[in-house]
Amino acid sequence: MLVFAATAQAGTGPEKISERARAIQARAINLDTHLDTPALFSQPGWKITDRHSFQGDGSQIDYPRMLEGGLDGGFWVIFTGQGERDAAGNLKARDAGLVRLSEIREMVAANPDKFELATTADDAARIKAAGKKSVYISMENAYPLEHDPSLLGFYYKQGLRMLSLAHISHNDFADSAGMGVAPAGEHGGLSDKGKAMIAEANRLGIILDQSHASNAVFDQMLELSRAPIILSHSGAYDVFAHSRNIDDKRIRALAKKGGVIQVNSLGGYLIDTGATPEYRAERRKVYESFGDRHDLSDAEREQVKARMAELDAKYHIRKADFDDYMRHLLHIIKVAGWEHVGLGADWDGGGGVDGYEDITALPKVVQALLDAGYDERQIGGILGGNTVRLIRDVQALADPAAVKAALE
Ligand SMILES: [Zn+2]
Repeated sequence: MLVFAATAQAGTGPEKISERARAIQARAINLDTHLDTPALFSQPGWKITDRHSFQGDGSQIDYPRMLEGGLDGGFWVIFTGQGERDAAGNLKARDAGLVRLSEIREMVAANPDKFELATTADDAARIKAAGKKSVYISMENAYPLEHDPSLLGFYYKQGLRMLSLAHISHNDFADSAGMGVAPAGEHGGLSDKGKAMIAEANRLGIILDQSHASNAVFDQMLELSRAPIILSHSGAYDVFAHSRNIDDKRIRALAKKGGVIQVNSLGGYLIDTGATPEYRAERRKVYESFGDRHDLSDAEREQVKARMAELDAKYHIRKADFDDYMRHLLHIIKVAGWEHVGLGADWDGGGGVDGYEDITALPKVVQALLDAGYDERQIGGILGGNTVRLIRDVQALADPAAVKAALE
């Protein structure tokens, strides 16, 4: 049968990476601000130092692939899914957060020749020069802090340098943007507890991350925070109207206050995939039939993949591709200015599209930015320079006495 290869390749981006693109990337500091890979650390048999493949086990980051893709490090996430907002739920979340924090630190401690904990702006370049990958720590969803908000100081001492308040549903700190159509707010943005958390993060020089929170939270966070903020993994609402994306007016306001937006590559936020509630419910059923287990055998993984492919065909699901990702990235660069944009692809957290399936594809973005006319200084900023600047700016505004007290 004749296959039209050109059609199959449409949208998957540059096929060749130029020497110039490789040289620019080698000189830049390449940081991704939302690495969900720590969720894999507790999977039996999964090792960051082994080479995995997206086709094989669905993972997108490991040390060998970071080397191949040129990623120098980034923010490694302590993610906690929002559960019950009662005393028992809060305690469970507290413990889950501390376990994940330990797992990140243990990964670094177990590989001292490959990874190093990073806590300051200067660490990124220093660790790269030492031939290692930087591990900044961030928290996605402040649920682990609901039981005891003062734990933030402990997390800071352990290396936490970025914090988001809510995930896909409201919590005690803030309203969520939800998962498509914005839900009605519970606090009208930030609760009093959320506002107090912002003040404390500012005092410690922890970067505030608005991704996943509502537009009202964005407006209030921008207003209340003494320091510029980040959107660690977000897209453009004016490119695709999804509640997880942010509109141009707010992107401009973010940039005006010195913040940065890091562009997400999660397909369902980039384009209308045609996913309906019925489709999502059927997908959930497939996952549940495997008991939400992480230790699937290769055969079981193949079964899941085959059933997902059947569902995608049944519901005529459209998959986002590299061009869709670049459409968001280039739009956001135009609106925010290149000094206020970076990459937060949501690797191992649902990110990745056709032609941009794991971190080995990062050089394609460099090539695409060159092809779009950006120069080395601009591309270097987008790859990580802007994030480094933000870390420096936020820490410069911290209260030295609060930092000293937390470190004692
Ligand atoms: Zn997320």
